[in-house]
Amino acid sequence: MRILITGGLGYIGSHTSVVSLEAGHDMAILDNLCNSNKVVLEQITLITGKKPSFYEGDIRDSNFLKTVFADFQPDAVIHFAGLKSVSESIEEPGKYYDNNVAGTLALLMAMQDSNVKKLVFSSTANLYGNSNTIPLIETASVNPNNPYGRSKLMIETILHDWAAANPDWYVACLRYFNPVGAHKSGLIGENPLNIPSNLMPMITQVACGIQKKLTIFGQDYETPDGTGVRDFIHVMDLAESHLATLNYLSGLNHISNKFFVANIGTGKGTSVLELVLAFMKYTGVAVSYEFLPRRTGDIGVSYADVSFAEQIIGWKARFALEDMCRDAWQWELKNVKNYKS
Ligand code: NAD
Repeated sequence: MRILITGGLGYIGSHTSVVSLEAGHDMAILDNLCNSNKVVLEQITLITGKKPSFYEGDIRDSNFLKTVFADFQPDAVIHFAGLKSVSESIEEPGKYYDNNVAGTLALLMAMQDSNVKKLVFSSTANLYGNSNTIPLIETASVNPNNPYGRSKLMIETILHDWAAANPDWYVACLRYFNPVGAHKSGLIGENPLNIPSNLMPMITQVACGIQKKLTIFGQDYETPDGTGVRDFIHVMDLAESHLATLNYLSGLNHISNKFFVANIGTGKGTSVLELVLAFMKYTGVAVSYEFLPRRTGDIGVSYADVSFAEQIIGWKARFALEDMCRDAWQWELKNVKNYKS
């Protein structure tokens, strides 16, 4: 297949690019570098021995998209390009609706003009908001409590309507839980440009002394140790889920399931404190941490029901907490050298 990966130099996109190249697909990356670095392209090439085509530009730029589609002529698109900070989205909602929603609409138009009809979209478990059905199943109510989550819900709605109006399209919305870890080479990983907002990069940055202390928000949730419970998934497992989804979409020749949403997680809940303790156990490195009160908007427990992904798409997460911690740490050690010195 010829796969166009938007946001392919970002955290999840770069790992998916590696998996796609290693599976023998021709692929191109489109990225505006607003949250990534061109060095990642070299790292992908180093890992796979193959250099993907690269188009630098913005998904909101229709003329640019036209050129990319005419030049690369993809069979399918995996769409990661988007902004992802919940706190930033609360401060600047317009930026999120413009980049994520308007950007996706421009991409859809370009796909339609170029007769490309297969799309895998990065959605999020953030959509479930405070849903009380645990584990979270795809049919649970969705009620995101921030503009980031709402931008993703708007996109899912647009994609649903788009697929309904165009029965020859195949569209999958993958709702990721909490991606962590890195490629085992330590050459690519999560590289927040500012102070990390996700837990694992914060842990690794405290472990190597870039940050002083990890703050754990909330010690009074109704969970075994009082800290929030999440479904942490190794980013390589997440990357594989995109290829499995494209394979599934490509094999479809019936009318059902041409649009679907699927949870992508491990199906296991791990508390924040458990993850910190696991990191220390598996790496042998100390992480100092403190507790502060709950943050507004955070939920107590979130983990996935993964039956749909396992039974229908035929994908299942393989990596354990130990791999997630070890690979994240290996990446941080190399990342400090490669990117920050
Ligand atoms: P990331 O920021 O590392 O990667 C996103 C990439 O998209 C970056 O390289 C950025 O430069 C690019 N980009 C952003 N806007 C663009 C635009 N308008 N035009 C072209 N390129 C653009 O983020 P990530 O963690 O890899 O996440 C990828 C996708 O998955 C995002 O859509 C995010 O919302 C979604 N997601 C992420 C998580 C997570 O915890 N990381 C969880 C659920 C969903």
